[in-house]
Amino acid sequence: MNGSLLVDNIGELVTNSPGGGGGPLGIRRDAALLVEDGLVAWVGPARYAPAADRRVDAAGAAVLPGFVDSHAHLVFAGDRAAEFAARMAGEPYTGGGIRTTVGATRAASDDELRATVRRLRAEALRQGTTTIEIKSGYGLTVADEARSLRIAAEFTEDTTFLGAHVVPAEYADRPDDYVGMVCGPMLAAAAPYARWIDVFCERGAFDVDHARAILACGQAVGLGVRVHANQLGPGPGVRLGVELGAASVDHCTHLSDADVEALASTGTDDGGTSTVATLLPGAEFSTRSPYPDARRLLDAGVTVALATDCNPGSSYTSSMPFCIALAVREMRMTPAEAVWAATAGGARALRRDDIGVLRPGARADLVVLDAPSHLHLAYRPGVPLIRRVLHNGVPQ
Ligand SMILES: [Zn+2]
Repeated sequence: MNGSLLVDNIGELVTNSPGGGGGPLGIRRDAALLVEDGLVAWVGPARYAPAADRRVDAAGAAVLPGFVDSHAHLVFAGDRAAEFAARMAGEPYTGGGIRTTVGATRAASDDELRATVRRLRAEALRQGTTTIEIKSGYGLTVADEARSLRIAAEFTEDTTFLGAHVVPAEYADRPDDYVGMVCGPMLAAAAPYARWIDVFCERGAFDVDHARAILACGQAVGLGVRVHANQLGPGPGVRLGVELGAASVDHCTHLSDADVEALASTGTDDGGTSTVATLLPGAEFSTRSPYPDARRLLDAGVTVALATDCNPGSSYTSSMPFCIALAVREMRMTPAEAVWAATAGGARALRRDDIGVLRPGARADLVVLDAPSHLHLAYRPGVPLIRRVLHNGVPQ
């Protein structure tokens, strides 16, 4: 859209651009923000705001960077509401239900899959998510993984090849053959549509040797590494991610001291870590499991991101505000830490510096809250506080 747009009368502007006494969230009071060509062009005190072609009046409310959901599984068919109900009645979560979704996904048409991604993408956007990562992983054949990623790429730049989600039933007694297929023809078909490669490294899914082999194959063709690690129990997934220079290790629910030390050892000059711990509290909520200990990671200097893990089995939420509220209530994060993790933290988990921050040159992705402060996202759980969303500078 042409022309400049001024977001004016901002009571609290979360920039995530520290300095000037605004704390880690880089908070500015009584601020304004100018958008040109889809980018932030200027940030400053409202009284110095430049003229613009159009104006959005924030009416004294809080304005934040749009949420960056760095972990979502949106390409699937069917739902698993009955499995959820059974789990709430006492059955444990094992990850085995993934195969139910695989069957439904293979049977669906391209248009059915595309309609589901479109619906969930729109649902997330209404709740303030302006960037979303989308994984494959419910196809698990060469053709079905490639089409999942082709459809995902219609909706996001951050697509992730997760052919190693589970070993599909037809390979149950020969997992080595499946790993060979993932590294061979499946990767070749998927890579043109993928930015990242991911593996579910967990008991019952892929062991550390298989996970290492698959991730190394992805790296060799230029994909960045992410790992589903240490969700259901302790294991080597987090340390494997660190070993391979992963952008993010995701879940991190069951961590040893060695895991935390390994993550902390990836520290960078800016005070964060190059491998981010992405926490997915929607999964613990929906599987009635103990939450990860965010405080322990933060106190060790590990960069933490929050994401939804949106998927039909273990976390069917697209709501970043819900994850923020859970992180504060259940994971001992402060509201400021949780908001940072859901915006700048997600951007770091995707190795991007153009999102999750509101400074000149960044993408004009932002939300106007129906509240005077970012604190309300955790303070008022379950309340629709996203009043307006700008995506690439365009009001949605
Ligand atoms: Zn996941």
